[in-house]
Amino acid sequence: MIPIAKPYLTEDEAQAAYDTILTGWITQGPKVQEFEEKFAAYTGAKYAVAVSNCTTALHLAMIVAGIGPGDEVICPSMSYIATANAIRYVGAIPVFAEVQPNDYNLNVADAEKRITDKTKAILLVHQIGMPADIDTFKDLCDRYSLKLIEDAACAAGSAYKGAKIGSHSELVCFSFHPRKVISTGDGGMITTNREDYYNRLKLLRQHGMSVNDRVRHEASKVIFEDHVELGYNYRMTDIQAAVGIKQLEKLDWIVEERRKIAAAYNQAFKGIASIRLPEEKEGYFSNFQSYSIYLKGTAPVDRNTLMQHLLDKGIATRRGIMNTHREIAYKNYMPRVSLPVSEDLQENSIMLPLYVPMKAEDIVHVIDCFTHEILAAADTGKAMV
Ligand SMILES: *Cc1c(COP(=O)(O)O)cnc(C)c1O
Repeated sequence: MIPIAKPYLTEDEAQAAYDTILTGWITQGPKVQEFEEKFAAYTGAKYAVAVSNCTTALHLAMIVAGIGPGDEVICPSMSYIATANAIRYVGAIPVFAEVQPNDYNLNVADAEKRITDKTKAILLVHQIGMPADIDTFKDLCDRYSLKLIEDAACAAGSAYKGAKIGSHSELVCFSFHPRKVISTGDGGMITTNREDYYNRLKLLRQHGMSVNDRVRHEASKVIFEDHVELGYNYRMTDIQAAVGIKQLEKLDWIVEERRKIAAAYNQAFKGIASIRLPEEKEGYFSNFQSYSIYLKGTAPVDRNTLMQHLLDKGIATRRGIMNTHREIAYKNYMPRVSLPVSEDLQENSIMLPLYVPMKAEDIVHVIDCFTHEILAAADTGKAMV
């Protein structure tokens, strides 16, 4: 069986976790601080704050951006559901805009149409690792005095106009879930260039506590902490951070390996007229967290049949990215949302296996089976009827 994805974990990560446990300091401490410093340096952001996952990162980003009850935040529906959920956590309203068919990222013209007096921010997703057009959205946000927040859950290691994702705007949120490019089990990170945001994020992730555990532990004088505002326990553990440090060292290599597999798929499928491959424009650099193919109306096989046939041959695939407004948790909350482009992309896209290391013979097997399915179906004449 060829899986859809697999985290790249080795003895290095296991040893790092082992060593950290034996230090006796296992929750947020020196390893978290080291991971933050290295992640900030890697992305080129001034500061990084580690948290328990990207969903909690997004929640804290909403708070420090000043988003609150009744505010509207524009985001794609076509994203993992956590994107919109984070907006709802602060009592704000997600306003769904359409995405572009070529890269699944937010359509700027459609987003602009949905701006109202209540709009406070745009939550821009770099979908499956492909950077969105940050500069265009920055301009839009400047014109309407909106905050720009990036959901870069899938985009560690991706770059836009020569700079790593994480360095471009005030609040960028990452995920280290095993389905992403590097993992700490669960885990998240917020990068920012603003010192005030940095300080507040550190408070909020640890119960609003003015002095952290480590400072108290290392102090030679008695220190009492204050709890200065309503905070949360969104900490990352030092065990996770130790794993994250090892993963970060390999990130550029993992991305290069992923890009080679994506290039092999691109090369093999570029002549098939009935499908659309992921588009990476000049100045955009994807980590290929996922590889998604769109089946056009002329495709001789429907997406679900194709998925089943590939599964029968031992190849796991996934449907296109979900549409949040079609989930039960959203249908009652916001009925009558219609996003034809996003819905069509969800129904007619298929994700192929992509992970490191992927055996050359497995890549060839996926290419052969996919090509055979999409061309063999055409031979049956099904396309003609
Ligand atoms: C995975 C993902 C999230 C959630 O990340 P967690 O770390 O699992 O909380 C949020 N947004 C997007 C776009 C994602 O792909």
